[in-house]
Amino acid sequence: MSGPLTVCVASSASESLELAAANSVAPSAEALAVSTPAVSERDRRFMALAQAAAEQARAAGEVPVGAVLVRGDEVIATGFNHPIGAHDPSAHAEMVALRAAALAVENYRLPGCELYVTLEPCLMCAGAIMHARIARVVFGARDPKTGACGSVVDAFANPQLNHHTSVTGGVLETECGAALKSFFADRRRASREARAAARAEAGETDTPGSAEPL
Ligand SMILES: [Zn+2]
Repeated sequence: MSGPLTVCVASSASESLELAAANSVAPSAEALAVSTPAVSERDRRFMALAQAAAEQARAAGEVPVGAVLVRGDEVIATGFNHPIGAHDPSAHAEMVALRAAALAVENYRLPGCELYVTLEPCLMCAGAIMHARIARVVFGARDPKTGACGSVVDAFANPQLNHHTSVTGGVLETECGAALKSFFADRRRASREARAAARAEAGETDTPGSAEPL
């Protein structure tokens, strides 16, 4: 049942990735060839830092997405996804990194900065990225359900909205996607085990009564 469109970015992103993982959706060779030309050493290096931030999200039990905000060769902020722990639907990795960077430089605009994030930004984050006038966004895995850099919509392609930001997608895509898939696989396994344990417990408590002869 799908009712009216519900804008619930964090959970729908999670669900879409879970779905993608379950269905083993893989980008076509053609898509990869188009989207991932030679990845520079610099992009690899900063994406690796974003991946490390994503692991902080995993450690906190959140969907593992991480981001770093870079000016020149300096990382001025990092962020990891934690909407559940923060009770904050806007606590996506990108938003956290943007807020921290803006505070660090005491400017709500961050021209000339680059944002590296392990997952394709959603519409909320794309909007914030544009408001901050980020020069370039580099993302890893694609999000087939809520990606706003071409997977579902391409917010940055609209010249009426975007005058500042270029986008590079698919950097360390396989690695970034693998971290998300393993997270959801672990979560499904834990859920199965919890259900099995609950069934076993119910079975044990039922057994003595039902086994007693009348
Ligand atoms: Zn987002």
